[in-house]
Amino acid sequence: MRVGIIGAGIAGLSTALALRKAGHEVDLFQREADLGGLIATFDFDGIDIEHFYHFLCTTDIGYFRLCQELRLSEHLRFKKASTGFYYAGKPYNFFTPLDLLLFPGIPFAQRIRLGLFALEARSRKEWVQLDELTAKPWLIDRLGEQAYKVIWEPLLELKFGDFHDKISAAWVWHRIHRVAKCKGRMGYLNGGTKRLLDGLRERLAEDGVRVHAEQPVTQILAEDGHVSGLRFDGHENYHCDRVVSTVPLTVLSKLLPAGYEEYAAQLDRIDYIGVVCVSFKLKKAVSKHFWYNVHDERIPFNGIIEYTNLNPMEEHDFHIVYVPYYVATDTARYKMTDDEAVKESWEGIKRMNPKLTDDDLLASHVARTPYAQAICPTGFLKMMPDHKAPLEGLRLLDSTFLYPEDRTQSGHILKAFECAKHIEE
Ligand SMILES: Cc1cc2nc3c(=O)[nH]c(=O)nc-3n(C[C@H](O)[C@H](O)[C@H](O)COP(=O)(O)OP(=O)(O)OC[C@H]3O[C@@H](n4cnc5c(N)ncnc54)[C@H](O)[C@@H]3O)c2cc1C
Repeated sequence: MRVGIIGAGIAGLSTALALRKAGHEVDLFQREADLGGLIATFDFDGIDIEHFYHFLCTTDIGYFRLCQELRLSEHLRFKKASTGFYYAGKPYNFFTPLDLLLFPGIPFAQRIRLGLFALEARSRKEWVQLDELTAKPWLIDRLGEQAYKVIWEPLLELKFGDFHDKISAAWVWHRIHRVAKCKGRMGYLNGGTKRLLDGLRERLAEDGVRVHAEQPVTQILAEDGHVSGLRFDGHENYHCDRVVSTVPLTVLSKLLPAGYEEYAAQLDRIDYIGVVCVSFKLKKAVSKHFWYNVHDERIPFNGIIEYTNLNPMEEHDFHIVYVPYYVATDTARYKMTDDEAVKESWEGIKRMNPKLTDDDLLASHVARTPYAQAICPTGFLKMMPDHKAPLEGLRLLDSTFLYPEDRTQSGHILKAFECAKHIEE
């Protein structure tokens, strides 16, 4: 069978690998020159690093299966990665049960409730009824007003910006469940995502998958209700038996052929949040924490990710810090210039650690994407379009279909492998 894949992020690359292994003829079409999509890397002043931070959980079995397939498992590393909380001008450890008990920002009884709640979320499996609940009142009811205000509101703002009070309880439950199951152990691939992408690139070339970079698909072609190929600007049409789309659903809706307007409208109901992610290369560490939540009105962000506290990159003598701003793409914050984003973030970081001076700033970089994450409001299950498109032969992969799970590389890989298994159906 001949299969055309739209998009060469982790989903498209994994689908290509699995389809080829199953004996299909595969062509992969990518809009950019680079492979990787959201996991693509850039040259940060001499080191290849991701535009957007990534960590692994011990439950990320899809990622482990891909590493095994590429013979990269020996490069996986896991360790206890500390979490901190910068609250109202002071740094706190926020990692062990004792840290939580000692945290002064919320009443003692609510600290206990918070700990018990995390334990319950870890063992809970049923979630469908949580889809009907909004996270904010659910969390206030379970934890108390102050615990929500101080801890959960900034965390939800960190991920969903102005949409934070619309998110479903099911999404929040799974997020706690995933992290709690890891018991503080987080992971990375030694050599970074570059190693994974190089492995995939080499393997796909060896296997005979044709990768067409800088060739965005402009339309899916159909004949008699079945996909027949793909159209591009400035290239000949491509003919195939199946199409796998790995682009965001609102991008896919514009690629559908005439006659599928109703389904396109369903796809357009899904909203995505954008992210502006500022990365810094520093002479000194900001903190000892990998994940450092922030609740301080004088600081414009809700958290930082000090990547080198997870992956120490021992051969290098610097520290990498990411500052993400999850915001709608029509906001001033999304549109701010790179210089403004760097300046504001750097001032915030210096406030968190006054020992840092401008001399410690070696380099900075700003990355943006309008499709950081599908927004999962209350009742998301009913909003989700059918992942089997009414157009025969078209398969969809998107983080929407991972719900209530967060969008992880691992989730995408598992879905990609599953899609390849069922492509002939
Ligand atoms: C800030 C941030 C932090 C994250 N942190 C983590 C983490 O810690 N752990 C984790 O597991 N995951 C994390 N993720 C999520 C993870 O990066 C994504 O879920 C995953 O990379 C999505 O892969 P994908 O292939 O589905 O989509 P994408 O990576 O978006 O790939 C889709 C590709 O399709 C291309 N494309 C678009 N339109 C067309 C077209 N018309 N024709 C051809 N190609 C097209 C795009 O250019 C893109 O390259 C994070 C994401 C972000 C943004």
